[in-house]
Amino acid sequence: MEIVARRLGPALEGVTVESAASPGINALKTFDPPLSALEGATFTGVRRRGKLLMIDLGELTLLIHLMTAGRLQVFDKRASMRDRTARFLLRLPEGRELRLREFGTRQAAWVKLLRASEADDDDAFRGLGPEAWPDPPELGELLDSPRPLHSLLRDQQVIAGIGRTWVDEILNAARLSPFKRGDDLSEAEAGALREAMVAELGRALDAYEGSVELPLPEKFPKPTKVHAHQGEPCPRCDTTLEAVFYEDYVMTYCPYCQTEGRILKDRRLSRLLK
Ligand SMILES: [Zn+2]
Repeated sequence: MEIVARRLGPALEGVTVESAASPGINALKTFDPPLSALEGATFTGVRRRGKLLMIDLGELTLLIHLMTAGRLQVFDKRASMRDRTARFLLRLPEGRELRLREFGTRQAAWVKLLRASEADDDDAFRGLGPEAWPDPPELGELLDSPRPLHSLLRDQQVIAGIGRTWVDEILNAARLSPFKRGDDLSEAEAGALREAMVAELGRALDAYEGSVELPLPEKFPKPTKVHAHQGEPCPRCDTTLEAVFYEDYVMTYCPYCQTEGRILKDRRLSRLLK
Protein backbone atom coordinates (compact mmCIF):
# COMPACT_ATOMS: atom_id res chain seq x y z
CA MET A 1 0.00 0.00 0.00
CA GLU A 2 2.87 2.32 0.76
CA ILE A 3 4.21 2.00 -2.78
CA VAL A 4 0.74 2.50 -4.26
CA ALA A 5 0.42 5.75 -2.30
CA ARG A 6 3.90 6.84 -3.36
CA ARG A 7 3.24 6.22 -7.05
CA LEU A 8 -0.28 7.59 -7.22
CA GLY A 9 0.39 10.73 -5.18
CA PRO A 10 2.66 12.56 -7.65
CA ALA A 11 0.72 11.21 -10.65
CA LEU A 12 -2.56 12.67 -9.43
CA GLU A 13 -1.54 15.82 -7.58
CA GLY A 14 -3.30 18.87 -8.96
CA VAL A 15 -5.49 16.82 -11.31
CA THR A 16 -9.21 17.65 -11.29
CA VAL A 17 -11.92 14.98 -11.26
CA GLU A 18 -14.48 15.17 -14.07
CA SER A 19 -16.88 12.61 -12.65
CA ALA A 20 -17.10 9.57 -10.40
CA ALA A 21 -18.94 6.27 -10.75
CA SER A 22 -19.29 3.12 -8.73
CA PRO A 23 -20.00 0.15 -10.99
CA GLY A 24 -19.34 -2.33 -8.17
CA ILE A 25 -22.67 -3.12 -6.52
CA ASN A 26 -21.39 -2.95 -2.97
CA ALA A 27 -18.12 -1.09 -3.37
CA LEU A 28 -19.25 2.32 -2.16
CA LYS A 29 -20.07 2.22 1.55
CA THR A 30 -21.23 5.81 2.02
CA PHE A 31 -23.95 8.05 0.51
CA ASP A 32 -23.25 11.43 2.16
CA PRO A 33 -21.47 13.37 0.66
CA PRO A 34 -22.84 12.07 -2.68
CA LEU A 35 -20.50 10.91 -5.45
CA SER A 36 -21.36 14.02 -7.44
CA ALA A 37 -19.48 16.04 -4.79
CA LEU A 38 -16.28 14.73 -6.41
CA GLU A 39 -16.97 16.56 -9.69
CA GLY A 40 -14.47 19.37 -9.95
CA ALA A 41 -12.50 18.28 -6.87
CA THR A 42 -8.70 18.41 -7.14
CA PHE A 43 -6.29 15.76 -5.83
CA THR A 44 -4.13 17.08 -3.02
CA GLY A 45 -2.37 13.91 -1.91
CA VAL A 46 -2.41 10.13 -1.41
CA ARG A 47 -1.57 8.59 1.95
CA ARG A 48 -1.47 5.15 3.50
CA ARG A 49 -2.65 4.32 6.99
CA GLY A 50 -2.51 0.68 8.04
CA LYS A 51 -3.68 -1.22 4.97
CA LEU A 52 -5.92 1.60 3.81
CA LEU A 53 -5.33 4.26 1.20
CA MET A 54 -6.49 7.80 1.80
CA ILE A 55 -6.90 9.92 -1.30
CA ASP A 56 -7.27 13.56 -0.39
CA LEU A 57 -9.22 15.89 -2.65
CA GLY A 58 -9.37 19.21 -0.81
CA GLU A 59 -12.35 19.02 1.55
CA LEU A 60 -13.08 15.41 0.59
CA THR A 61 -11.20 12.20 1.29
CA LEU A 62 -11.64 8.81 -0.35
CA LEU A 63 -10.85 5.93 1.95
CA ILE A 64 -10.08 2.75 0.04
CA HIS A 65 -9.46 -0.80 1.23
CA LEU A 66 -8.28 -3.02 -1.62
CA MET A 67 -8.63 -6.21 0.48
CA THR A 68 -6.74 -9.09 -1.14
CA ALA A 69 -7.78 -8.86 -4.77
CA GLY A 70 -8.32 -5.16 -5.38
CA ARG A 71 -6.03 -2.97 -7.50
CA LEU A 72 -6.05 0.76 -7.90
CA GLN A 73 -4.63 1.89 -11.22
CA VAL A 74 -4.37 4.99 -13.38
CA PHE A 75 -5.21 4.34 -17.00
CA ASP A 76 -4.80 6.53 -20.06
CA LYS A 77 -8.01 5.17 -21.50
CA ARG A 78 -11.48 4.83 -20.02
CA ALA A 79 -12.74 1.42 -18.97
CA SER A 80 -14.79 -0.29 -21.60
CA MET A 81 -18.27 -1.33 -20.50
CA ARG A 82 -16.95 -4.84 -20.46
CA ASP A 83 -14.45 -4.36 -17.64
CA ARG A 84 -16.32 -6.49 -15.13
CA THR A 85 -13.53 -6.01 -12.61
CA ALA A 86 -14.22 -2.26 -12.29
CA ARG A 87 -15.63 -1.37 -8.85
CA PHE A 88 -15.09 2.37 -8.58
CA LEU A 89 -13.71 4.96 -10.96
CA LEU A 90 -12.82 8.59 -11.22
CA ARG A 91 -12.81 10.06 -14.72
CA LEU A 92 -9.97 12.50 -15.21
CA PRO A 93 -9.15 15.01 -17.99
CA GLU A 94 -7.72 13.80 -21.32
CA GLY A 95 -9.48 10.46 -21.09
CA ARG A 96 -7.50 9.27 -18.12
CA GLU A 97 -9.10 7.35 -15.33
CA LEU A 98 -8.33 6.21 -11.79
CA ARG A 99 -9.90 2.79 -11.53
CA LEU A 100 -10.41 0.39 -8.65
CA ARG A 101 -10.58 -3.12 -10.07
CA GLU A 102 -11.04 -6.38 -8.25
CA PHE A 103 -10.11 -9.80 -9.46
CA GLY A 104 -11.71 -13.08 -8.43
CA THR A 105 -15.32 -13.77 -7.54
CA ARG A 106 -15.63 -12.02 -4.22
CA GLN A 107 -16.47 -8.33 -4.00
CA ALA A 108 -14.67 -7.31 -0.85
CA ALA A 109 -12.78 -4.12 -1.75
CA TRP A 110 -14.56 -0.98 -0.63
CA VAL A 111 -14.57 2.79 -0.87
CA LYS A 112 -15.86 5.48 1.45
CA LEU A 113 -16.31 9.10 0.42
CA LEU A 114 -15.85 11.23 3.53
CA ARG A 115 -15.42 14.83 4.53
CA ALA A 116 -11.69 15.36 4.97
CA SER A 117 -12.22 16.65 8.51
CA GLU A 118 -13.81 13.33 9.52
CA ALA A 119 -11.70 10.87 7.56
CA ASP A 120 -9.05 10.23 10.19
CA ASP A 121 -11.72 9.39 12.75
CA ASP A 122 -13.51 6.89 10.53
CA ASP A 123 -14.61 3.55 12.03
CA ALA A 124 -12.15 1.77 9.75
CA PHE A 125 -9.34 3.09 11.94
CA ARG A 126 -10.94 2.22 15.27
CA GLY A 127 -8.57 0.11 17.32
CA LEU A 128 -5.86 0.17 14.67
CA GLY A 129 -2.49 -0.56 16.26
CA PRO A 130 0.64 1.57 15.85
CA GLU A 131 2.35 1.51 12.44
CA ALA A 132 4.97 -1.22 11.93
CA TRP A 133 7.06 0.99 9.69
CA PRO A 134 9.18 3.09 9.71
CA ASP A 135 9.30 3.59 13.49
CA PRO A 136 7.32 1.00 15.48
CA PRO A 137 7.14 1.24 19.27
CA GLU A 138 9.01 -1.14 21.57
CA LEU A 139 7.45 -4.56 21.03
CA GLY A 140 7.79 -6.14 24.47
CA GLU A 141 4.69 -4.50 25.87
CA LEU A 142 2.82 -4.36 22.57
CA LEU A 143 3.03 -8.13 22.05
CA ASP A 144 2.48 -9.10 25.69
CA SER A 145 -0.10 -11.76 24.88
CA PRO A 146 -0.30 -15.57 24.96
CA ARG A 147 -1.05 -15.57 21.21
CA PRO A 148 1.69 -16.81 18.83
CA LEU A 149 3.83 -14.24 17.02
CA HIS A 150 2.59 -15.09 13.52
CA SER A 151 -0.94 -14.29 14.60
CA LEU A 152 -0.02 -11.17 16.59
CA LEU A 153 2.02 -9.61 13.79
CA ARG A 154 -0.76 -10.05 11.25
CA ASP A 155 -3.35 -8.51 13.57
CA GLN A 156 -3.88 -4.89 12.48
CA GLN A 157 -5.34 -4.11 15.91
CA VAL A 158 -2.01 -5.05 17.48
CA ILE A 159 0.35 -3.53 14.91
CA ALA A 160 -0.70 -2.02 11.59
CA GLY A 161 0.66 -2.58 8.11
CA ILE A 162 2.22 -6.06 8.01
CA GLY A 163 0.76 -8.52 5.51
CA ARG A 164 1.08 -12.26 6.09
CA THR A 165 3.77 -12.47 3.41
CA TRP A 166 6.08 -10.20 5.38
CA VAL A 167 5.43 -11.88 8.71
CA ASP A 168 7.38 -14.90 7.46
CA GLU A 169 10.28 -12.73 6.30
CA ILE A 170 10.37 -10.78 9.56
CA LEU A 171 10.27 -13.83 11.84
CA ASN A 172 12.99 -15.54 9.80
CA ALA A 173 15.20 -12.44 9.95
CA ALA A 174 14.66 -12.25 13.73
CA ARG A 175 15.24 -16.02 14.08
CA LEU A 176 12.01 -16.47 16.01
CA SER A 177 9.50 -19.29 15.81
CA PRO A 178 6.12 -18.28 14.37
CA PHE A 179 4.56 -20.18 17.28
CA LYS A 180 6.50 -18.46 20.03
CA ARG A 181 4.08 -16.72 22.38
CA GLY A 182 4.17 -12.94 22.43
CA ASP A 183 4.51 -12.87 26.21
CA ASP A 184 7.42 -15.27 26.01
CA LEU A 185 9.77 -12.79 24.24
CA SER A 186 12.93 -11.77 26.05
CA GLU A 187 13.97 -8.14 25.86
CA ALA A 188 16.71 -9.06 23.37
CA GLU A 189 14.26 -11.03 21.22
CA ALA A 190 11.75 -8.17 21.23
CA GLY A 191 14.57 -5.84 20.15
CA ALA A 192 15.66 -8.20 17.37
CA LEU A 193 12.08 -8.53 16.18
CA ARG A 194 11.61 -4.78 16.04
CA GLU A 195 14.85 -4.39 14.12
CA ALA A 196 13.87 -7.17 11.68
CA MET A 197 10.47 -5.56 11.16
CA VAL A 198 11.91 -2.20 10.17
CA ALA A 199 14.62 -3.80 8.00
CA GLU A 200 12.36 -6.25 6.13
CA LEU A 201 9.56 -3.76 5.47
CA GLY A 202 12.20 -1.27 4.34
CA ARG A 203 13.69 -3.91 2.04
CA ALA A 204 10.23 -4.58 0.57
CA LEU A 205 9.70 -0.91 -0.12
CA ASP A 206 13.16 -0.52 -1.69
CA ALA A 207 12.43 -3.44 -3.99
CA TYR A 208 9.06 -1.97 -4.98
CA GLU A 209 10.64 1.44 -5.51
CA GLY A 210 12.96 -0.13 -8.06
CA SER A 211 10.39 -2.23 -9.88
CA VAL A 212 6.89 -0.77 -9.66
CA GLU A 213 5.83 1.80 -12.27
CA LEU A 214 2.59 3.42 -13.37
CA PRO A 215 0.12 2.17 -14.40
CA LEU A 216 0.47 -0.01 -11.33
CA PRO A 217 0.71 -3.70 -12.21
CA GLU A 218 -2.07 -6.20 -11.55
CA LYS A 219 0.46 -8.47 -9.90
CA PHE A 220 3.15 -6.95 -7.75
CA PRO A 221 6.54 -8.65 -7.78
CA LYS A 222 7.13 -10.31 -4.41
CA PRO A 223 10.72 -9.77 -3.33
CA THR A 224 10.43 -12.50 -0.69
CA LYS A 225 13.06 -15.06 0.26
CA VAL A 226 11.11 -17.09 2.81
CA HIS A 227 7.36 -16.82 2.41
CA ALA A 228 6.09 -19.58 0.08
CA HIS A 229 9.69 -20.63 -0.61
CA GLN A 230 9.34 -23.95 1.23
CA GLY A 231 11.66 -26.58 -0.21
CA GLU A 232 14.24 -23.90 -1.03
CA PRO A 233 17.28 -22.96 1.08
CA CYS A 234 16.96 -20.55 4.00
CA PRO A 235 18.53 -17.17 3.02
CA ARG A 236 20.46 -17.20 6.30
CA CYS A 237 21.73 -20.76 6.75
CA ASP A 238 20.85 -22.85 3.65
CA THR A 239 18.70 -25.30 5.62
CA THR A 240 15.66 -26.34 3.58
CA LEU A 241 12.67 -24.15 4.46
CA GLU A 242 9.57 -25.91 5.78
CA ALA A 243 5.95 -24.78 5.73
CA VAL A 244 2.67 -25.14 7.54
CA PHE A 245 -0.33 -25.01 5.22
CA TYR A 246 -3.58 -23.41 6.25
CA GLU A 247 -6.81 -23.23 4.30
CA ASP A 248 -5.98 -20.00 2.53
CA TYR A 249 -2.33 -19.33 3.21
CA VAL A 250 1.02 -20.88 3.89
CA MET A 251 3.45 -20.10 6.68
CA THR A 252 7.10 -20.74 5.84
CA TYR A 253 9.96 -20.99 8.33
CA CYS A 254 13.49 -22.30 8.76
CA PRO A 255 13.75 -25.19 11.24
CA TYR A 256 17.40 -24.38 11.97
CA CYS A 257 17.08 -20.62 12.51
CA GLN A 258 13.63 -20.52 14.03
CA THR A 259 12.37 -23.71 15.69
CA GLU A 260 15.47 -25.39 17.15
CA GLY A 261 15.31 -28.04 14.49
CA ARG A 262 11.70 -28.95 15.06
CA ILE A 263 9.47 -29.50 12.03
CA LEU A 264 6.06 -28.08 12.86
CA LYS A 265 3.01 -30.20 12.31
CA ASP A 266 1.36 -29.62 8.97
CA ARG A 267 -2.21 -28.99 10.04
CA ARG A 268 -3.58 -29.69 6.60
CA LEU A 269 -2.10 -33.21 6.66
CA SER A 270 -3.09 -33.91 10.24
CA ARG A 271 -6.66 -32.91 9.44
CA LEU A 272 -6.75 -35.35 6.55
CA LEU A 273 -5.41 -38.15 8.74
CA LYS A 274 -7.97 -37.69 11.51
ZN1 LIG B 1 17.92 -20.77 8.42
